[in-house]
Amino acid sequence: MIYLDHNATTPVDPRVFEVMKPYLTEAYGNPSSIYRAGQDVRKAVEDAREMVGRLLNAEPREIIFTSGGTESDNTSIKGVALNRGKGHIITSTIEHPAVLKVTEWLEKRGFTATYVPVGTDGVVNPEDVKKAVKPDTIIISLMHANNEVGTVQPIEDVAAIAHEKGIVFHTDAVQTVGKLPVDVKRMGIDLLSLSAHKLYGPKGTGILYVKRGTKFDPCVHGGHQEWGRRGGTENVAGIVGLGKAAELAEAEMASEAKRVRDLRDRLEAGLTERIADIMFNGHREKRLWNTTNVCIKYVEGEAMLLNLDMRHGIAASSGSACTSGSLEPSHVLLAMGIPAEIAHGSLRFSLGRGTTREEIEKVIEALPPIVEKLRAMSAFPRKE
Ligand code: PLP
Repeated sequence: MIYLDHNATTPVDPRVFEVMKPYLTEAYGNPSSIYRAGQDVRKAVEDAREMVGRLLNAEPREIIFTSGGTESDNTSIKGVALNRGKGHIITSTIEHPAVLKVTEWLEKRGFTATYVPVGTDGVVNPEDVKKAVKPDTIIISLMHANNEVGTVQPIEDVAAIAHEKGIVFHTDAVQTVGKLPVDVKRMGIDLLSLSAHKLYGPKGTGILYVKRGTKFDPCVHGGHQEWGRRGGTENVAGIVGLGKAAELAEAEMASEAKRVRDLRDRLEAGLTERIADIMFNGHREKRLWNTTNVCIKYVEGEAMLLNLDMRHGIAASSGSACTSGSLEPSHVLLAMGIPAEIAHGSLRFSLGRGTTREEIEKVIEALPPIVEKLRAMSAFPRKE
């Protein structure tokens, strides 16, 4: 398989798996137990907390382990909303469903919300956020980078706008931690969501960073774990894996950024040369170095994906999601003003640690004939 879907998930790095193994076998104590077998495991959890804290420039006590990005997003927005009881939420039109759905859920329960638009480049204008602020705004949630097009948002500017008015600022940094430097203190972040499986750690593990003093109501009630802020026996192996993944990300981020950006740029250049009516989505510079999102006119993204997979073993993703039998174009591409019929022809390639030059050359060879064949069969009206 040529795996080019790292924004969906990353393989567990073998070095991460190695450190997890003992916690799935002999080191099975409960970290809350006071005997030795429990306390050794507790130490492993606390070491991982420190490693994650180091990557974010956070204090260990500000890190809450969760089940991943979705739980951290939900807890941030719902937790602040429930703590305040009423008020207005600001987010953007291109957020992950983990943010959009919980905001919609709160709207049905008496909260109000503004979904700030993006430009055609997929980037939010901080001025639009400023205009959306109301006297009762309680939280602003803006993702650090978008998972579909990779655009990086001006979160520092937006955090400053929030703090001027005493509003809590949350960022979904699921796609950036491990790819871009994230310093919660310098960037003015109050709440941050991170997911281990996007940075070569295991699925079902993540963190919520909570700046000291930020008030929110816990959303998972139970035992006293995580200082009463998130009940439930810790996913120890997952947490230990996340700690190692954070350590590796810190050490390797800069060299990976250069290597993978070169490959991504080569992919874009190769496809541009060989395919007519192709356009790349999102701001050219303000985007993740591993992501390219492309619209190829007069073809369906899903059809390209299936051909890439079945004929060449290439795994990528498309912007369209199959909902109840019909293909819904990506809400992100629509928010960027891309017409639905063009958005249907979108593909996302997200490169990663294992991606090689040979793989990229294979994609450049494989995709153009697929596009040609599909266009020949296409029912899409051409407007040349
Ligand atoms: N936020 C973003 C931007 C994502 O890309 C994802 C995963 O695709 C999530 C949140 C959800 O994270 P998880 O899969 O850990 O629940």
